[in-house]
Amino acid sequence: MYRDYTCGELRIANVGQKVTLAGWVQRSRKLGGMTFIDLRDRYGITQLVVEADADASLVETATSLGREFVIQAVGEVVERQSKNPKMPTGDIEIKLEKINVLNKSVTPPFTIEDESDGGEDIRAKFRYLDLRRNPLQSALALRHRMAHEVRNYLDSKGFMEIETPYLIKSTPEGARDFVVPSRMNPGQFYALPQSPQTFKQLLMVAGYDRYFQIVRCFRDEDLRADRQPEFTQIDCEMSFVEQEDVLNMFEGMMRTLFKNVLDVEIKDPLPRMSWYDAMDNYGSDKPDIRFGMELKEITSLAHGHGFGVFDACDYVGAIAVPGCAGYTRKQTDELTEWVKRPQVGAGGMVWIKWQEDGSFKSSVDKFFAPEDLQAIAGQCGAAAGDLILVLCGEKRKTQNRLGVLRIEMGNRLGLRKPFDFAPLWVVDFPLLEWSEEDGRFYAMHHPFTAPKPEHEKWFYSDKKEDLERVCANAYDFVLNGTELGGGSIRIHNADMQERMFEVLGISKEEADYKFGFIINAFKFGAPPHGGLAFGFDRVCALFGGQETIRDYIAFPKNNQGRDVMIDSPSQIDEAQMKELFLSSTL
Ligand code: ASP
Repeated sequence: MYRDYTCGELRIANVGQKVTLAGWVQRSRKLGGMTFIDLRDRYGITQLVVEADADASLVETATSLGREFVIQAVGEVVERQSKNPKMPTGDIEIKLEKINVLNKSVTPPFTIEDESDGGEDIRAKFRYLDLRRNPLQSALALRHRMAHEVRNYLDSKGFMEIETPYLIKSTPEGARDFVVPSRMNPGQFYALPQSPQTFKQLLMVAGYDRYFQIVRCFRDEDLRADRQPEFTQIDCEMSFVEQEDVLNMFEGMMRTLFKNVLDVEIKDPLPRMSWYDAMDNYGSDKPDIRFGMELKEITSLAHGHGFGVFDACDYVGAIAVPGCAGYTRKQTDELTEWVKRPQVGAGGMVWIKWQEDGSFKSSVDKFFAPEDLQAIAGQCGAAAGDLILVLCGEKRKTQNRLGVLRIEMGNRLGLRKPFDFAPLWVVDFPLLEWSEEDGRFYAMHHPFTAPKPEHEKWFYSDKKEDLERVCANAYDFVLNGTELGGGSIRIHNADMQERMFEVLGISKEEADYKFGFIINAFKFGAPPHGGLAFGFDRVCALFGGQETIRDYIAFPKNNQGRDVMIDSPSQIDEAQMKELFLSSTL
């Protein structure tokens, strides 16, 4: 061994011991005749000191050390004159007798400290250096701990971790597949799995009634904020279960993670909210329930006052923002511009101030008398001092925009503290979603989700309105406005699965070509089953109090899906192309 202690380990009790440490030189500085070196490894930093009267060659070596040199240091643990209470090793230092330079380093392109001076791009290019930094090391340590807890919990409940293949068949439904050419099968391609969905269901058919896997998934999506083309799921499936059983099992898992990793107690049982209530009251299927400011429908109060914009809309909704009646004209104008940005997409915004003195002021004073505004404020559950923000338009779209505005106001008012945790289940999702553009239904979760048994009558109807009413036993685990996981009770019957593809406008031939294997498997005694998957990167990020998943992945891609460290994706040479029967049209 090159060391007998780590750089985070020595304390006052070790004073007098002769020790050998190894690590990276974070910094070295001269003070008087003495040289101080901060030696770092992933456990911490220990201060080394070379006295002015030390052996000349030792002084010379100490002086020659540059940042990120790897050294082995031998010396005696001594009590520090001036202690550093901020460092766990801050009571001691090592009085050096010997330094072995194990490897030199060129000057790193940015400082490897908690706060680095390097921009994002340069840190991504030298990710292995960025990973030496404390914040990233604690993020990955947290991830490791979480994975360990997940495995422990699921193992204790009888789940088996089973790997499923990465080279599978392309069946895009939702995101695009990444494809891999097959050299041995000219002109044919594998796809990388968007999730192990069909395989875990086949494992249920095979009798492995409690399966899990911490598994990589691949989706070729445009990378909107905080997505990665490859990401990790805690993927789970159970046989002979109903929705209640799945929710209890995984509520238990999340409760254990909160307790064991963060020492946080979450509500028992967790709140549950129907998808319809989430949309109506929060304008989102992933509501942040840490604060109120719920959406209120005011359509009937808004109609009939001669304000054409409201009269023309089938939905008018509002939120009451507490204590913001003092907003200036400039602030309300700025907010109006904010909701009109394409990311939110509102046509405009009406505001009503219920001022502290009880009077009303609004951007629609011409059309609404104070009593009318009072009635609206009452409907919104507002109080004097509140600012009421109103949007109108098509119902679900407007609710969605109000939901985005609600989150923004929550942020502005500091109501979304990272370490306040308010998880819940969103349940009773519609099974299907109609796309006007494509003139067809899409599965809201995925095509393997079963309709609620009591809604089956509508599922077999040919009327669009009936199909729109069908709900699924589908559920999402939501935390602080983020969907952390989701799943459903599945179809386990071949006829029903075929009907599902028919409803989705997938022809029998296409369904057989793409999904014949699973329809067939269901003919061989498939048990009732259901499951879910959690987005592991995101669970880790939220547990770490962060919104971005990038720090919780050792080697992430950038927004263009590139790994700038290894410079990928990249071209392959002609010979490789030929071997794979590929030619480029570029
Ligand atoms: N495979 C699903 C997904 O990736 C999760 C599930 O239904 O279990 O969203």
